Amino acid sequence: TMSTTMTNEYFLEAKGLTKYYPIRSDLLARMTGRTVVLKAVDGIDFYVRRGETLGLVGESGCGKSTTGRLVARLLEPTAGSAYVQGRDIFTLDPSEILKLRKTVQFVFQDPYSSLNPRKTIMQIISRPLEVHGLASSFLEKRHRVIELLTMVGLGPEHVDRYPHEFSGGQRQRIAIARALAVAPDLVIADEPVSALDVSIQAQILNLFRQLQEELHLTYLFIAHDLSVIRHISNRVAVMY
Ligand code: ADP
Ligand code: MG
Repeated sequence: TMSTTMTNEYFLEAKGLTKYYPIRSDLLARMTGRTVVLKAVDGIDFYVRRGETLGLVGESGCGKSTTGRLVARLLEPTAGSAYVQGRDIFTLDPSEILKLRKTVQFVFQDPYSSLNPRKTIMQIISRPLEVHGLASSFLEKRHRVIELLTMVGLGPEHVDRYPHEFSGGQRQRIAIARALAVAPDLVIADEPVSALDVSIQAQILNLFRQLQEELHLTYLFIAHDLSVIRHISNRVAVMY
């Protein structure tokens, strides 16, 4: 049908995507027994074409992270749909969800909390390889982890270290390497440079651009900073 054709044009498409959070602590809700909701995302539509970067910009609290998590299927929507390569991600069965986890990866804002402090870089980056059965032997895993570290500007000398031994920018490089481990097509980056020093931000943004070119990645790039969005995006969606 017409609508299927339209949907397949885009790598990612959100239609009427909606997320309400119940506010349990709300006094009125408790007194009346009615559910009061916070409308974090209220019926939004957007698309991302294969190979492009859609910048998603808006002030703090407008629902950007919620949107990113919805289209990564890290959150269930209240209503609406999100299509990845034409398939509604909210109607997938468990084996298809596992496949989606290989296609769509996420880079979080805070490189301090996103890396487990008790695991080495080897353990952190090889975990997705294990989950998706992408490396069988220890040596194969190690080879791939070093390859990934090299892609993000780190090296073999970093493989057995712990997250606390790295700067914020280096940690974000590690988080990017982990996201790339499964060779995803789409990377959703939620304010990936917001927690970094301004001098480091440009380096990480350039890394994102360089990786996009080399690996033909598609990006949904979330930021609240317009200069960051301008630097990285092909198109911009503004959220209110
Ligand atoms: P942004 O990333 O643009 O700053 P968020 O998507 O994090 O915005 O949040 C949008 C709104 O939803 C905010 O008002 C936030 O407080 C609220 N919110 C986010 N997550 C939750 C949650 N788990 N429970 C309740 N409210 C939430
Ligand atoms: Mg956010």
